[in-house]
Amino acid sequence: MSATATSQRVFNFSAGPAVMPVSVLRELQEELIEFPGAGSSLMELSHRGQVFVDVLHDAQDTIRSLYGISDDYEVLFLQGGAALQFSMIPANLIRGNDKTAQYLVTGSWGKKAVGEARKEGKVEVLYDAKESGYNHVPSSGDYAASDDAAYLYYCSNETIQGVQFAEEPSCPAGVPLICDASSDILSRPLDIKKYGLLYACAQKNAGPAGVTVVIIRKDLLDHAPDNLAGYLTYKNHAENDSEWNTPPTFAIWALGKVAHWLADDIGGLEAMQKLNERKAKLLYDSIDANSGFYAGHARRDCRSRMNVTFNLPSDELLNKFVKEAATHDLASLKGHRSIGGIRASIYNAMPIEGAETLAKFMNDFAAKNG
Ligand SMILES: *Cc1c(COP(=O)(O)O)cnc(C)c1O
Repeated sequence: MSATATSQRVFNFSAGPAVMPVSVLRELQEELIEFPGAGSSLMELSHRGQVFVDVLHDAQDTIRSLYGISDDYEVLFLQGGAALQFSMIPANLIRGNDKTAQYLVTGSWGKKAVGEARKEGKVEVLYDAKESGYNHVPSSGDYAASDDAAYLYYCSNETIQGVQFAEEPSCPAGVPLICDASSDILSRPLDIKKYGLLYACAQKNAGPAGVTVVIIRKDLLDHAPDNLAGYLTYKNHAENDSEWNTPPTFAIWALGKVAHWLADDIGGLEAMQKLNERKAKLLYDSIDANSGFYAGHARRDCRSRMNVTFNLPSDELLNKFVKEAATHDLASLKGHRSIGGIRASIYNAMPIEGAETLAKFMNDFAAKNG
């Protein structure tokens, strides 16, 4: 049965919700009706029962060990997607106080985060790459964060434009660095000690929609104003082990399986990073080899390893590209409506064969139509 299902699967380049490891989907399928030993589906069990609590802790522990996260941090599983974090972060850290939050804006998601933060308190945009059409990230000399800021916020990988920070932006000691890692979480090793808070919705690179991972340094739990809504207060989630209210049990279960796949099948984040670099190189090499035909969106030194964005000489060729790609089982390649073009999202679970097939298709298409 699963063999048939797999043979019908296409290479899915969707930006999110996005491709998941087949082995994880298969395990979920096998365990869906009766969770091993539990007599019920996990979805039918109390979130406070031992079976689910073990699943929750296992998912937290696996993420902790992948990144090497110390006890100074909480790993929370929340709802509301990445979008709720746009509000929750400033609501906890600048609402009702005099501090200023500083933002680096390198694409659509950073811009949205600024809009929500302004509703909560004082915000300063230190750098905005808008004039370049969001094709790059700043280098440390391009902005100066002040050392009394509430935090410095950035988005490590702008999913729509396909630009990525190769490393953390410079941030004064004592200022918490806050990162939206929604589209590159668990794609490479990180030194979590550099961050005050790092978060990601799961549905790009870590599992199904419905759960958001928030890795938060414990000292940041104490800044929320007293009148802040209970759900919005990080401390409530930390003190109740992500069970202040009913957590998204299915999504957490699947997230834990993806984390195990990374640890056990892939061999950890360094191995994952190498694979991701190989996949990205295949596609960027094809763009560069056909540079009169394909126009990459991101500046070379800021190219995303997760979302490869480029355009074709005309809308006609773009539509033809998408249509013909589909006949090669290459799906969901159309770029975001705001910037057009092609976007190939090659998250962790995209097999290398997907990138190879797409690169070959790109070369053939350029040769025929260039
Ligand atoms: C998808 C995405 C978001 C929004 O996620 P939701 O879960 O839909 O709120 C925010 N930031 C980045 C970088 C994203 O890729």
